Amino acid sequence: MKALVIGGGIGGLSLALSLKARFDDMEIHVYEAASEFKPLGLGINLMPHCVRVLTELGLQNNLKEVAVEAEEFVFATHNGQIIYREPTGRYAGHEYPHFSIHRGDLHSVLLQAVIERLGADRVHTGHRLVEFSQDDAGVTAVFAGFEGAAIEPVRGDFQVGADGVHSVVRKSYYPNEGAPVFHGINLWRGVTKMRPFLSGASATRIGALHRTGKLAVYPIRNNIDSEGNQLVNWIAEVVTDHQAPVDWSAPGNLEDFMPYFEDWRFDWLDCKELLSSSEGVLSYPMVDRDPVDQWTFGRVTLLGDAAHPMYPRGGNGGAQAILDAEALAKALLAENDPNAALLAYEKERLPIVNNIVLTNRSTPPDSIIEVVEQRTNGERFESLDEVISLEEIQEISLGYQRVAGYDKETIAGK
Ligand SMILES: Cc1cc2nc3c(=O)[nH]c(=O)nc-3n(C[C@H](O)[C@H](O)[C@H](O)COP(=O)(O)OP(=O)(O)OC[C@H]3O[C@@H](n4cnc5c(N)ncnc54)[C@H](O)[C@@H]3O)c2cc1C
Repeated sequence: MKALVIGGGIGGLSLALSLKARFDDMEIHVYEAASEFKPLGLGINLMPHCVRVLTELGLQNNLKEVAVEAEEFVFATHNGQIIYREPTGRYAGHEYPHFSIHRGDLHSVLLQAVIERLGADRVHTGHRLVEFSQDDAGVTAVFAGFEGAAIEPVRGDFQVGADGVHSVVRKSYYPNEGAPVFHGINLWRGVTKMRPFLSGASATRIGALHRTGKLAVYPIRNNIDSEGNQLVNWIAEVVTDHQAPVDWSAPGNLEDFMPYFEDWRFDWLDCKELLSSSEGVLSYPMVDRDPVDQWTFGRVTLLGDAAHPMYPRGGNGGAQAILDAEALAKALLAENDPNAALLAYEKERLPIVNNIVLTNRSTPPDSIIEVVEQRTNGERFESLDEVISLEEIQEISLGYQRVAGYDKETIAGK
């Protein structure tokens, strides 16, 4: 069987590895539009649900070498008052760790494994899918090369669109969908070299988006110099009409969002210093797409952001692509016929992930902070118990974990 994987991002490379782990004789090809791979992006969280998959692919140690193993989530108000610290990953009793990692490092680990296991000749950079067709016997994919160079069309038994938020494969089935939907929130992102803060492995969320703006801050590389500094990833979210281009590499301006965070200077983290010492600023709009009820069309299916672009919240953008990859490879193993396998994959994954897309819009994990800021009207609290009980906090947190599939029961059931 010959697989055409369109897109050499996190989902496409994970799929290549998941297929290779189950089918030694499958001819797997990854086609990537970019002419070369670069360590692009900033921080990504890999929660235990997808680290299980990466561990089963034999990659846990490779990730450990480059990532920070997160110990806890920390939720704080914009005044710097800590509401809740919740252990995560192995610190919460999971079998698998929670890694906070630079996307470029994650991509390099996956790419290296694909090259070692499949061979460098199976990864085709400079191949931008422009159109495709299918018949009873297979799929024909047509690519444009670097600067539009002509490339021979390729035949395969099935094709997977892992071509990201601007997916050409998705567009051919949903031609009138338009651009990703902007809901009035913009993100600015960066990385700062600094001394470890809190536990040195704390994934921290500060402030309530709809009242004050919000920061997510977490380290993604340890010991980057002889002084024990870390590379710390930050994401500032602000409710605004300002919409950046839907391009993960688009630059941003500090002055567009700094006023929201200027006085956020706590004894455990100086946010002003964090933001103003950043090595550059990127900007990205909080976009997703309305969920669709079909990803599979005969011998062609969608995976990752092509299938379900979601708000980058709760550590799920990359994770759900990795989980899709495993599910698709397992479905192909269970069914002889690719048409049936692609449908079985959709049946398993679509309802779960569509629910995450909607939950990321309405009640991400940091809604704990929204509740507190709303009840205190943004003032400092004297006694947290009078504002919110531990049970209520844990209920919000566990509710999201269940939707996303990284609660202990769901992971143990895999
Ligand atoms: C450059 C970049 C930087 C990112 N940075 C971050 C970040 O900092 N934080 C974060 O949370 N998420 C980031 N993301 C998004 C994140 O990687 C995805 O949300 C998630 O990992 C799901 O992975 P995916 O494989 O579905 O999509 P992606 O990782 O986006 O991969 C899609 C791949 O398909 C390729 N492609 C697109 N069109 C075609 C085509 N027509 N033919 C062939 N190949 C095509 C793209 O070049 C890309 O390599 C970034 C994505 C990219 C591409």
